[in-house]
Amino acid sequence: MKKVLSTVLSTAMLLSLAGCSSKETGKYTAGTYTGSGKGHSSDVKVTATFSASEITKVELDVSGETESIGGAASEELQKQIMKKQSSDIDGVTGATETSNAVKAALEDAIAQASGSENKEKTALKDGTYEESAASFGVMGLMKGEVTIKDNKITDIKITEESDSLTAQWFQVAESKLIPRIIEAQSVGVDSITGATTSSGAIKNIVSSAIEDAGGKSSEWMSAPEKSSEVKKIDGYDVIVVGLGGSGLLSYCSAAKAGAKVFGLEAAGEIGGNSASVYGPMALNSKNLAEKYNDGKDYINEDDVYNTWIDYVGTDEKADVIKKAVYESGSALDYYMNNFDFSFDGMGGLLGSFVVPSWDKEWTVYTADEENSKWYAFGPDHTYQFQAALDKAKAMNDKNDYMLELTAEELLTDKDGNVTGVKAVSYDGTTYEISGKSVILATGGFLGNDEMLKEVYGSTVKSIGDTVNDGTGIKMGQSVGGATYALGTLPMIHVSQIPNIIRDDSLTADQKAILSAIATTTDAKEIDETGKILGTKDESGTTNSELTVGIAYAPGFHYYNAYSQEEIDSMKKNGLSETTAAVSIFGLGQGGKVPAAGTAIEDLDQIIDVAIDTNNAWKGTPEELAKALNMDEEALTKALGDADTTYYLFECAGYSYGTVGSLDVDENMNVLKEDGTSIKNLFAVGQDSEGVCNKEGEAYSPWGGQAQSWTFVSGKIAGEAAAALTK
Ligand SMILES: Cc1cc2nc3c(=O)[nH]c(=O)nc-3n(C[C@H](O)[C@H](O)[C@H](O)COP(=O)(O)OP(=O)(O)OC[C@H]3O[C@@H](n4cnc5c(N)ncnc54)[C@H](O)[C@@H]3O)c2cc1C
Repeated sequence: MKKVLSTVLSTAMLLSLAGCSSKETGKYTAGTYTGSGKGHSSDVKVTATFSASEITKVELDVSGETESIGGAASEELQKQIMKKQSSDIDGVTGATETSNAVKAALEDAIAQASGSENKEKTALKDGTYEESAASFGVMGLMKGEVTIKDNKITDIKITEESDSLTAQWFQVAESKLIPRIIEAQSVGVDSITGATTSSGAIKNIVSSAIEDAGGKSSEWMSAPEKSSEVKKIDGYDVIVVGLGGSGLLSYCSAAKAGAKVFGLEAAGEIGGNSASVYGPMALNSKNLAEKYNDGKDYINEDDVYNTWIDYVGTDEKADVIKKAVYESGSALDYYMNNFDFSFDGMGGLLGSFVVPSWDKEWTVYTADEENSKWYAFGPDHTYQFQAALDKAKAMNDKNDYMLELTAEELLTDKDGNVTGVKAVSYDGTTYEISGKSVILATGGFLGNDEMLKEVYGSTVKSIGDTVNDGTGIKMGQSVGGATYALGTLPMIHVSQIPNIIRDDSLTADQKAILSAIATTTDAKEIDETGKILGTKDESGTTNSELTVGIAYAPGFHYYNAYSQEEIDSMKKNGLSETTAAVSIFGLGQGGKVPAAGTAIEDLDQIIDVAIDTNNAWKGTPEELAKALNMDEEALTKALGDADTTYYLFECAGYSYGTVGSLDVDENMNVLKEDGTSIKNLFAVGQDSEGVCNKEGEAYSPWGGQAQSWTFVSGKIAGEAAAALTK
């Protein structure tokens, strides 16, 4: 969700806010000036209008910031600026990076208006400063030590973090960003793509140290100059856009088939979402059967195929679904045999989600041998990806790939034929890469709020990679590619409060209690219009089936409702058995919920923080309906009494990724609306996964299917693209 904030406060309002502040005359050269500062995920802009003595109007453009973080803070920041008439504002808790960017941008505008652009930085006191910042990890703050000597940042050490419990991305930010901050002597350097939240926390730690050393962090935000060079790369057969799972698997099969391959990856590391998964579905892999099933087949593939066709309700894409079923085992074997991939067991922790008898269909990557590290959602297996990519790269001297290089558009000739890819590197250099064919592997559109709203009418909370912003799909569309089942529901299996409290305003146990109250099925559940969740059950009794039924919906959220009496009783008599048993998959914060029946004396404190962070609301039905834009009559009916105080706790679904995609045929060739293919353009992984699914429904929910598709589609596309060069 992004927004351009254009609320403008008038001088009159300013005066009423600022009271009777005395202003010097001739401080500024009257006019309108725009300054910019590096925010969480964008360049934030502040446009301020100055009279000779004061700021009379200010507009913030935070359109590139996540609305739930920076976007929501912008109005408050604007008010603070008008009140203080300077960049010395408090900022907004939970949006530190955006706040710092706004301060820097305003300071830039003030410097222009006062003609002091080249002012010296405020002097810093030497020392090593210990700081902390909320980051991606849900189990605690990131902590670090910053050494300052002779007005320079000389060392940054991260001493504690919980980001890497979920995946590798903290290490990527740490190893790449810290040297860049020190080299540029600036916290205005770009965050590392793929690790923006960890990067933001590191920058916030450095900013806090600068402030504690007596400086102003906003003076340390100058962004290093970007290159405007355009470089050409040519002589390639196959260009792979995105080196997550499906991209690097395409790269491997294209290289093995003899093609000269170039890969580009926007993030600071390969792997994408595919780096943090448990593992793929693999039907009758010979290697797995040999190792774990006495060489015997372990699933009836016809049964899987028929169930699948029944599920999607059409055989329109039968040729593709046949590949997904009948080649899932052999694709896995191909990568095991040729690129040394390794998997452990069958079934493992998770059987099929929907057909209990398919108990062996899901396998799991073998964890890194050295430390057997497991993340929250699966084993560390980037080492396997890297080894495979290295092997494929070595298959031809020409083969190459680049990280931190973001594809922006397809290059075409005058007849509209695809001739390559235009991409921009983190240092600003533009690359025009020519090749005979292009494979799109950018992992869907979970990171694109506008596209999510267009497709579903709602944004989606994410635990997946937000680098995946639909660029691949848009590139395909730009040359006439059609989409297929774009509105298949995104992958959602995890529920939590919508605004996870990552700072230490609550203890881990208090956070666990809040999550349990918000997500338990043992409460009256209210939908976003104010009605009891679902249409059949108007009695107000718990109906957990309804909750599960809509758990795949985008923007999935509902409210658990409690009356004042129920809250008072919870304080005294504790949680119910059901609520005390709630556990949060993947996004639990490490705390323990007390046993059912144990008094919760600090419940008021927990609720206060929940209300402050927009995770809960308190009021009469009338007040709640107003606050949450619900139908008052429906809400009053659902809650029971117009004069009673109620509490609504929000529960939200978190998505791994989107599923709807470009339309492809059984060779992974992108198809046009008229069904003809674009011969040298392919799409794999989530950029083509709609073809195995159904518009408006949850994705084919067998278990491991999404990851399996990266192997099947990757192998087919790489070989098909390589074949075009012959
Ligand atoms: C936490 C988690 C757990 C999961 N668990 C499972 C599981 O156990 N089993 C399963 O089947 N599925 C699982 N999934 C889903 C599965 O991971 C995905 O469906 C699959 O990894 C998608 O692969 P992909 O190659 O399409 O996307 P990715 O692996 O995400 O790769 C896309 C790549 O493209 C890059 N990129 C994006 N835009 C650009 C651009 N413009 N230029 C260059 N590069 C770009 C990205 O940085 C990324 O590296 C899980 C997902 C998550 C997030």
